[in-house]
Amino acid sequence: MNKKINSTMDKLVSLCKRRGYIFQSSEIYGGINSCWDYGPLGVELKNNIKELWWKSMVYEHDNIEGLDSSILMHPIIWKASGHIDGFTDPLVDCKKCKNRFKATDLEGNVCPLCGGELTEARQFNLMFKTFMGPVEDEANIVYLRPETAQGIYVNFLNVLNSSRNKIPFGIAQIGKAFRNEITPGNFIFRTREFEQMEMQYFVKPGTDDEWLEKWKENRMNWYHKLGLKKEKLSFHMHDKDELAHYAKEAYDIQYEFPFGRQELEGIHNRTDFDLSRHKKYSGKNIQYYDVAAKEKYIPYVIETSAGCDRTLLTCLVDAYDEEEERVVLRLSPLLAPIKVAVFPLVKRDGMPEIAVKIYNNLKMNIKAFYDDSGSIGRRYRRQDEAGTPFALTVDSETIENNTITLRERDSMNQIRISLDKIDRIIKEKINIY
Ligand SMILES: [Zn+2]
Repeated sequence: MNKKINSTMDKLVSLCKRRGYIFQSSEIYGGINSCWDYGPLGVELKNNIKELWWKSMVYEHDNIEGLDSSILMHPIIWKASGHIDGFTDPLVDCKKCKNRFKATDLEGNVCPLCGGELTEARQFNLMFKTFMGPVEDEANIVYLRPETAQGIYVNFLNVLNSSRNKIPFGIAQIGKAFRNEITPGNFIFRTREFEQMEMQYFVKPGTDDEWLEKWKENRMNWYHKLGLKKEKLSFHMHDKDELAHYAKEAYDIQYEFPFGRQELEGIHNRTDFDLSRHKKYSGKNIQYYDVAAKEKYIPYVIETSAGCDRTLLTCLVDAYDEEEERVVLRLSPLLAPIKVAVFPLVKRDGMPEIAVKIYNNLKMNIKAFYDDSGSIGRRYRRQDEAGTPFALTVDSETIENNTITLRERDSMNQIRISLDKIDRIIKEKINIY
C-alpha cells in the first residue's frame, strides 16, 4: 500500500521537475525542507487557479470586494486573534537522538526513530517571528501572518465605508501566509510558506447558518468547475474537538489524495469572534449600522479558506494518467498552462513559416507554444505530459488547401480545420472568453 502511494506521488514529483511545474527550493544547495519553487508551467497553472477563484468571488458577486493587505501587521492583531496564546502545537524532544516531534503524531511514549526517552510536551507557537527595524528586542517583534483573514478583519470598516456595501457583503484576498509547521510534507500539500485564497462574508447574526450552507454549495461547485473528479471530493464536518477556538460550525472540502483524504478548503462560521476581539483590543467602534432597520450589530463571518498550492496539487493529482504509450495530464483547458501547441510537421517546404505565423497570432490572446524540433510523435508526447489540451500541425495539405490538423490531447483524435477558423474553434474549446 505504502509503495503504491510513494510511486504515484514520486512519479508526479518527477514529472513536475521534468516539465517545469515545480522545483525543490534552493536545489543547488541541497534544498531546503518543505520549500518549493514554481517553474514556467507551475506559475501559469497557479495564476490560472487564482484568476478563476478571483473571478468566481469578486467579479461574479456584486457584493464581494478585493483586498491585498500587508504580510507584516501590528503585533497586537495576533494577540487579539488568539494566535499568540493559542496557535500552538504540543512538541516533544527525544533525549537521546535530539529529534523533535509533534506529540499528537506519536503513538506511545518513546522516540519512533531510536526508542529513546521523550521530554514532556511543550507548547510551540507556529508563527514565524522577526524584528522590525534594526534593533532586535522584544518591543520590535513582528510576525509573518499565519492567515490572510486578519488583514481582512482589520480593514472591515475601511472597505465597508469606501465601497458603500450593505450587509451581507464579503472581502476576498489572495496572499502568502506562513506557519512554522513541525511536520510539513507530502510535496506541496503542507508547507511552511503557502498561498491562501480567503473570502470573509459578513452577515447579520441569525442568518449565519443559512449563509454557511450557501457557501458550502458554492465552493464545492467551484471545484467541480475545475474539472476535478466529483467522486473524489467530499465534505467533512468538524466535530466538537476539531473546531477551532473561533468557530461555531465548520466543514472541510476534502479530496482523496494518494496519501489519504485531506482538507482542501475550510468553510467556517467564525461568528463575531474576530471583529469583537478587534473592537476590544483596538478600542474602535467596529460595528455595522443597518439604516433600514435602525439597528447596530457586530456581523457574523462565514469564511471560505482555500489553499492555492493545495488546489494546484489536487489539479495535478487528479489530472495525472498513465497509458501504455504515454503519460498524460488531463487538465481542464481552463487550467492548462499552455492552451495550444503549434508545430510544422517538418522543418521545410514553407511549413515552419506558416506555423510561426499561426503561433504569433494565437499568443496575443492565450499561452501558446511553438516547437519544430524532433519527431512529431515526440512533440505530441511532450505536450501530453505538460497538459496542453490542443495541438495544431501544419503539413503538406496546409499548403495545398489551407487546412490544418487539430489534435486533442485526451482522445488523440485528429480533425482538419480551415486556417481561418482556428481562432474561433480554439476559443470555443478552451471556453475562457
Ligand atoms: Zn530518538
